[in-house]
Amino acid sequence: MTVAVILKHKGAAVETVRSTATVQQMCDLLSSKKIGAAVVVGAANEVIGLVSERDLVHAISMHGAGGLNRTIDEVMTRNVATCRLTDSSQDLMEMMTSGRFRHVPVVEGGRLVGIVSIGDIVKRRIEDSDLERHAMRDYIAHAG
Ligand code: AMP
Repeated sequence: MTVAVILKHKGAAVETVRSTATVQQMCDLLSSKKIGAAVVVGAANEVIGLVSERDLVHAISMHGAGGLNRTIDEVMTRNVATCRLTDSSQDLMEMMTSGRFRHVPVVEGGRLVGIVSIGDIVKRRIEDSDLERHAMRDYIAHAG
């Protein structure tokens, strides 16, 4: 299964944030959208970083309530691993396991075209194995 197939089902929407936003604003965004991470983009919408809930927890653990006033620029991960539409879910799972993260932005021709989380991969895998199970059951029921 490719990233293109995963995005076809979940859509191409990606929550983005500017590096000048505060940790408080980021908490509000993640909370209202019920998501775990957002991609940090520059003026040309290019990917310059990623912030996940783990980075926010770290900022508050380090600075207490004052951490909420820090900027995203201070807490984001800059060296972001991205993927292409043609990458497989297996490629992504290996990337996530070895890098110990759960989100991978999808970039094509320098443009952000989606994001895949570990939850998206697990969801598709379960749906695929359900389809396979039903097809197998039909095949057995009608064979012979
Ligand atoms: P996550 O498991 O996605 O919540 O992220 C755990 C940590 O890895 C956080 O510090 C994130 O900023 C960082 N991280 C998440 N996704 C990526 C990625 N695709 N490339 C590099 N770092 C990431």
